[in-house]
Amino acid sequence: MRCEVVAVGTELLLGQIVDTNSTWIGEQLALAGIDCLRHTVVGDNPERIRLALEESLSRSDAVIVTGGLGPTQDDITRDVIAEVMNVEMIQDPDLVELITAKFRGRGRVMPENNLRQADLPQGATTMKEMPGTAPGLICPISGKVIYAVPGVPLEMKQMIEGTVIPDLVSRSDEVAVIRSRVLRTWGQSESGLAEMLADEIKRLDNNQGVTLAFLASGMEGLKVRITAKASTELEAEGALNGEESRVRSIIGPLVFGIDGENMEAVVLKELIAQGLTLATAESMTGGLIASRLTDVPGSSKAFLGSVVSYANTVKHEILNVAEGPVVSEQAVLAMANGVCELLGADVSVAVTGVAGPEPQEGNQPGLVWIGTSVDGELKATKVQFPYDRTMARQLTAITALDILRRRLLERAEKN
Ligand code: ATP
Ligand code: MG
Repeated sequence: MRCEVVAVGTELLLGQIVDTNSTWIGEQLALAGIDCLRHTVVGDNPERIRLALEESLSRSDAVIVTGGLGPTQDDITRDVIAEVMNVEMIQDPDLVELITAKFRGRGRVMPENNLRQADLPQGATTMKEMPGTAPGLICPISGKVIYAVPGVPLEMKQMIEGTVIPDLVSRSDEVAVIRSRVLRTWGQSESGLAEMLADEIKRLDNNQGVTLAFLASGMEGLKVRITAKASTELEAEGALNGEESRVRSIIGPLVFGIDGENMEAVVLKELIAQGLTLATAESMTGGLIASRLTDVPGSSKAFLGSVVSYANTVKHEILNVAEGPVVSEQAVLAMANGVCELLGADVSVAVTGVAGPEPQEGNQPGLVWIGTSVDGELKATKVQFPYDRTMARQLTAITALDILRRRLLERAEKN
């Protein structure tokens, strides 16, 4: 069973409202295991709506159209469907009665226009849900079907859940479930990841059940989404597990988390698992790392605190950084060591860099030293980020946490 969604409304094209209906419908179809091939958005224009419906019908077995079922002159979905079906519009006496009763029930006089909503393409049936005054339509057409539901999200949802999905499932001979899992990665570009996974993607092309997709999510890293289609929930889960291990065997420690897990939550989980406490010493990030860590509920189990050593005097006097350049390997190692001693932490992460816009000590904006201390062993990494103050600070925060995460994993392997 192949399905498409057509959203009708000029306001959608103009960007005045976001097409959340198609998104929601897409999600429901996926959960029901019905393939959705395409989403189309089209304005309130009869010719273009007709074309969109005909094209969708030529590719798919079912089309769900949302919007344009209202009572006004620009609500033309109904009429266009009649054209596509090549039938007349016929007034349905039961609907006239139902709509009139709805107005009477609310103590309002019915505008003449609303009777338009009692007109149906010949051969169409109405859906049992009708929270508003627009009926949902089931329109059979040469072995295929068009479902028309209102644009109003509340009305649309009741009809999709109550009628459209069950009807689609009963028409479909293959029963299937679709499940997906997101692997969160950090440290590789989208094209870099695609290159690493190219052979695996090629292999999956010949295997209908599982697909991989990339989703760039800025400071939250790059997501690799695995989608599996199978006949049962258990089978889909099994396929996801299998594909997750394959991907992990290729991209290894680039994967830091799964689904909703963010970097800070993963680092804290690992610290707690290993019974370690953490302190941070932050110069150019000004507490961003501490802020991300403390966003996670329960972070106090591992996170002790931070020294925001923004001024050089603080670096020298509080963290014991020796005189000399403060954006340097030697300075960041001293910061990582100093904050561990000061706060009595087992591990630490420290950053010092040039946030910009001005260069500092001859270093370009975006140059950052990240230091870590794990069991008293100090390490430093130099990174050059693209120049943008906000971005450099954000990228530094997540990169520093990632470096610590990798050291914690190494530590766990050793012990
Ligand atoms: P009505 O009976 O209210 O006229 P309708 O079927 O004609 O319903 P539209 O006029 O297209 O629907 O849309 C009514 C309202 O529903 C819009 O103003 C908008 O707020 C919302 N809406 C319509 N289409 C969408 C969509 N694709 N995604 C999200 N909201 C939508
Ligand atoms: Mg309308």
